[in-house]
Amino acid sequence: MAERKVRVRFAPSPTGALHIGGVRTALYNYLFARQHGGDFVFRIEDTDSNRFVPGAEEYILESFKWLGIQFDEGVSFGGNHGPYRQSERRDIYKKYVQQLLDNDKAYIAFDTPEELDAKRAEIANFQYDASVRMSMRNSLALSKEEVEQLIADGKQYVVRFKIEPNENVVVDDLIRNEVTINSSILDDKVLYKSADELPTYHLANIVDDHLMEITHVIRGEEWLPSAPLHVLLYRAFGWEDTMPQFAHLPLLLKPEGNGKLSKRDGDRLGFPVFPLQWTDPKTGEVSSGYREAGYLPEAVINFLALLGWNPGNDQEVMSLEEMTNLFNLSRCSKSGAKFDYKKGIWFNHIYIQQKSNEEIAELFAPILKEQGIEPVMDKVVVVVGMMKDRVNFVKELWDASSFFFIAPTAYDEKTAKKRWKDDSAQCMTELAEVLAAIEDFTPQNQETIVMSWIADKGYHTGNIMNAFRLALVGEGKGPHMFDISWVLGKEETVARIHRAVEVLK
Ligand code: GLU
Repeated sequence: MAERKVRVRFAPSPTGALHIGGVRTALYNYLFARQHGGDFVFRIEDTDSNRFVPGAEEYILESFKWLGIQFDEGVSFGGNHGPYRQSERRDIYKKYVQQLLDNDKAYIAFDTPEELDAKRAEIANFQYDASVRMSMRNSLALSKEEVEQLIADGKQYVVRFKIEPNENVVVDDLIRNEVTINSSILDDKVLYKSADELPTYHLANIVDDHLMEITHVIRGEEWLPSAPLHVLLYRAFGWEDTMPQFAHLPLLLKPEGNGKLSKRDGDRLGFPVFPLQWTDPKTGEVSSGYREAGYLPEAVINFLALLGWNPGNDQEVMSLEEMTNLFNLSRCSKSGAKFDYKKGIWFNHIYIQQKSNEEIAELFAPILKEQGIEPVMDKVVVVVGMMKDRVNFVKELWDASSFFFIAPTAYDEKTAKKRWKDDSAQCMTELAEVLAAIEDFTPQNQETIVMSWIADKGYHTGNIMNAFRLALVGEGKGPHMFDISWVLGKEETVARIHRAVEVLK
């Protein structure tokens, strides 16, 4: 068989915000496709109209745009295998349902919900399968005439997959190796419903994987139980030769304790579980997103990439391109990955350091505007360069550096008590004079001149510098003193000292 071009897909159902686990699944598909020079397809699985949520599709697309994960074809991208929205493929599925019926691989069942409930009450662990088929109301048990009459009468029906019992179905999984499941545990899955003239997820998902020439199905662990059905349906259609390879990714686990990561963990511990903020259109409930919380997309990607995969060494910080080169499904773990959200914060810190001061200044500028400050970009860039190693989020730059933009209106009481000595007013008045006389106000030159003034006068360096800091910053924090005065400029520096003297005496 000729080598097929690698084609993978991300196939969400538009039922709400995209969970962060889904983002990881998409990322791994993306990396796999890129690495193999393959295609990455975006398909929308919207055959269940009851679960359809308006805005979800747009939300998902916007999320990937923000994250920098690109698709090659699919909904909104176009391509030769469309349409890519399952609700627009009804006629295609009908043909395949008919094919299964014609080949005796599926049958029509008329059992009403009430009849099924009655059976469930009668038989413990009732499952619609080979053991009960002949006692139900379906085209296997009824005569051809009866079936035709029921359809002519307009009775609703479903089409069920006729699963042969007691067969070991082997799913070859690239992460879990061989997974063997006995077909007897499967029920005769509903593939189609006459009521809405639409296939169920089970059929649409598999027909589309075939028609879209998908070679690898990389998806969350929760879909592992669907894998044998995938195999059996491919066989029933006679598509064995193009059966995709499976890879079921490990679960994302709670940051602490056991169990699957949930939105509640995020709410409780204060981290988002969605890429972007999401407002539920029905309830109006707002859920936080990584973007709005101030994460850089690169940091989110890097963080997610390592939840269930590692490059085989201890390298942690990787660009998308590096990940593409290093990615390997065989290095994905079978066991669940703890969602260590603090690691995500660490990555954000790292990516802030990696970005240029100019880039971070661009992100900081809107925050300054919100604070009523018209950003002078040259100054913002310098401030960012001095302060970015102290923050995990760009928005934290405001608290760390606001004194560069607004003069202190009050002086931290505790600091003032400790650092503003009896002679501070006198010393600071002198210092203001010394500074005012300096021509070249660069940090180095200021430092040389101020230090020799301190030495001449026999002052205590620590006391002088502490009072100086209190005057300019309003508290005891901040970077190197002469860097602060240099950024503020001579006039502002001197004015702040005079104010401090006035207020603190
Ligand atoms: N529509 C399924 C979902 O919502 C796709 C599962 C699969 O990858 O087959 O995740």
